[in-house]
Amino acid sequence: MSTKNILLLAGDGIGPEVMGEVKKILALIETKGLLSFQIDEDLVGGCAYDAHGVAISDAAVDKAREADAVLLGAVGGPKWDGVPYEHRPEAGLLRLRKDLELFANLRPAICYPALADSSALKRELVDGLDIVIVRELTGGVYFGEPKEITDLPNGQKRAVDTQVYETYEIERIAKVAFELARVRGNRVTSAEKRNVMKSGLLWNQVVTATHKSGGYEDVKLDHMLADALGMQLVRAPKQFDVIVTDNLFGDILSDVASMLTGSLGMLPSASLGAEDSAGRRKALYEPVHGSAPDIAGKGVANPLAMIASLAMALKYSLGKPDLADLLDQAISAALADGYRTGDIWSEGFRKVGTSEMGEAVLKHFQSLIAE
Ligand code: NAD
Repeated sequence: MSTKNILLLAGDGIGPEVMGEVKKILALIETKGLLSFQIDEDLVGGCAYDAHGVAISDAAVDKAREADAVLLGAVGGPKWDGVPYEHRPEAGLLRLRKDLELFANLRPAICYPALADSSALKRELVDGLDIVIVRELTGGVYFGEPKEITDLPNGQKRAVDTQVYETYEIERIAKVAFELARVRGNRVTSAEKRNVMKSGLLWNQVVTATHKSGGYEDVKLDHMLADALGMQLVRAPKQFDVIVTDNLFGDILSDVASMLTGSLGMLPSASLGAEDSAGRRKALYEPVHGSAPDIAGKGVANPLAMIASLAMALKYSLGKPDLADLLDQAISAALADGYRTGDIWSEGFRKVGTSEMGEAVLKHFQSLIAE
């Protein structure tokens, strides 16, 4: 059995609490002989700043580069509001994404049947929802140059952000989307604004060409304008399987999609790099939520987004899609038993803390493995 090298970066706030539940699941997987791990831990965010004066140390970035998968909790909190901009907790995350060239951000929006009533939409629209938004993460308008505010002679100011994409950036994200679709519902919807943006036109052309020349014609490809897709996401979200889009539209559309599922505490994410010659990808898995300073240290945080992030790691980095499915089923089963942390609790359900929810998932996971 090969040994997988895992780096845990629990971070700040509720990060260490939710990571604690993931450690229990990793231990169970190892005890059952399903995978063997070499687990290392390090600091990121405010805690790294306190220890080293930077949001992530070079040593931690080096470990992340060597890891088969990096699991990150959350960063940030009011304690670090005053630190120099370049050392703010989020800088640790941004450095990891940049140094590991994690260009593909995968945000699944899964609506567990037991939580369908917590969605902002009607149950029938979201019950059983399972879509993934693949967002380009390292290019586009957030990074394009020039990016500046200049003074005009008439006393006004002028702000410029630059939306820029090159062929290779679109090609590689399109490939991630097609490959992902193959292990799901085999459908990709590509979203841009080709009607008003040159970058949208190129996006559309390159996705279409990659579909053809990359040998992905078994996957069904549709194109939709990003604004129309926004409407469709709240009108009939179950029509989608994989959505691929740029950094800006992906940022917005994935936040919209997250509200379809009920709670921030339920949403995992993955950020993937390019495959190397040995077929390995650098990868970072983390919940979508932040460090939740308002509830940190109280043992009440919902660990399910962190646990679902581990499920994504099992699927995309650790070669165990079967275990990933069992872990997702275990989450579903714990919810079906009525276990709820405060963020997803409603009358008639059993209110539990972080470790009780983690243990409920662990118990179901253990019996599913044994079947
Ligand atoms: P947040 O996600 O931390 O919290 C928003 C609300 O959701 C809070 O009421 C919180 O209690 C609740 N919540 C979040 N996760 C939860 C969970 N697992 N279980 C139960 N409730 C949960 O966002 P915020 O309050 O805007 O930001 C707090 C800090 O986190 C800030 O410093 C921010 O910069 C940082 N942040 C970090 C990340 C990250 O690490 N990726 C992402 C977003 C925000």
